[in-house]
Amino acid sequence: MGVKLGILGLGTVGTGTVELLANPTQGHPLLQSVSISKVGVRSLDKFRQVEIDQDLLTTDLEAIVSDSSIDIVVELIGGLEPARSLILKAIENGKHIVTANKAVISRFGAEIFDAASKSGVYVMLEAAVGGGIPVISPLRQYLIVNRIDRVMGIVNGTTNYILTQMQEKGSKFEDALADAQNLGYAEADPTADVDGLDAADKIAILTSIAFCGCLNRDNVYTEGIRQVSRTDIAYAEKLGFTIKLLAIASRNPKGVIAQAVTDSSLSVRVHPTLLPKSHPLASINDVYNAILVEGEPIGQVMFFGPGAGKGATASAVCADILNLVSRIQTASQSNTNSLDPLLVNAHKNECHLSSMAQLATRFYARFLTKDQPGVIGKLGTTFGKYGVSLESVVQTGFQEKLAEIVVVTHDVTEGDFHKALDEIRTAEAIDSIPSLFRVL
Ligand code: NAP
Repeated sequence: MGVKLGILGLGTVGTGTVELLANPTQGHPLLQSVSISKVGVRSLDKFRQVEIDQDLLTTDLEAIVSDSSIDIVVELIGGLEPARSLILKAIENGKHIVTANKAVISRFGAEIFDAASKSGVYVMLEAAVGGGIPVISPLRQYLIVNRIDRVMGIVNGTTNYILTQMQEKGSKFEDALADAQNLGYAEADPTADVDGLDAADKIAILTSIAFCGCLNRDNVYTEGIRQVSRTDIAYAEKLGFTIKLLAIASRNPKGVIAQAVTDSSLSVRVHPTLLPKSHPLASINDVYNAILVEGEPIGQVMFFGPGAGKGATASAVCADILNLVSRIQTASQSNTNSLDPLLVNAHKNECHLSSMAQLATRFYARFLTKDQPGVIGKLGTTFGKYGVSLESVVQTGFQEKLAEIVVVTHDVTEGDFHKALDEIRTAEAIDSIPSLFRVL
């Protein structure tokens, strides 16, 4: 049985997908059953980097999602609208969906999965997180019997490239960003990457799959990398750490947090983090992504690879397409309409997210203080008053007549740490606290 595709979008990922389907590097027999019926674009006049029959191109995307001969709609236009409406319309018309769109799935996943289950169709999204790295299907299928405790990763290649340049070449943030833009790793408007929004979309999706629940994307605490300076990278290095933008979803261990947080609560967040150099994620550099999954009984599993790019992302999109082709053919041969439960998002429960004030973590803080005797002692006393115990305190040098002091704490709740900082800020000897990062 032949399976017909309607592809929405012929940009980076759409081009890679059309190329890979036309010239497969590995000729799986299922590929012979797939044909492209239509490709939706914004402009018909644009030069295309891929050989494609011009008659397949159309600007009428509504017609693609309503075309009764199309079995699978592959959404590769990105953004929220019209992507959301087109996906919902396609589902309503009984089409299976493949999408690489983390923005739409992280915000409207519940609505889309609900509609899909009512229509009896699949929504496949391997390419939405980690580009070419298979992480969604392992979580949905091969790790399914584990109790997942933590999913943590470097899921944005642009920021990882910038931080690697700052670390290895001593580049300034602005120069490393310009470099990433020249190389095509960063958009002209880099906000979604450098402010952590793209990583937050991805961890929201991973959370819903790993912890089997829905969550409100807006509740993911998000901090980007604009405040990471060369100075902090150098101090972190001296202390044995590397700074990475981590996306983390973890089960809160019962009892560690002071406030009443239930065993089922999660902490979901994106922020720059000091990682011990021995940590498996500390050596993931440049545009690469890696996702570390921790569960019981499996222990730790790490997925590493290219988190974006034409070929890598097309690899994930085409794998989803072939999975669907296989399912469609099997269903037609056995005359059944039932869906494979391992490929369906049955996430009805709301994930309970704890507030950042409840998070117990270690901190790195850099203080600029007046060069007076007893400042370190006063810092220690104030931290002690709020139960913050210090792992190390180092007076690292001077900046324009101000002493620079770097502190690393033991685990403390964010709430208590900030209470201590609020009091420290009022001390006459404290000039400023230029940086504050969490330590893994
Ligand atoms: P892109 O290069 O900007 O391409 C977008 C395509 O969609 C273009 O062909 C554009 O048409 C078409 N399009 C956009 N809005 C449209 C509209 N309103 N009506 C009709 N056509 C429209 O994007 P991309 O980089 O391929 O990304 C596609 C999706 O994959 C996004 O969700 C992205 O987050 C995700 N993704 C991308 C990567 C990557 O490495 N790029 C990796 C993982 C996931 P024209 O060509 O006519 O302008």
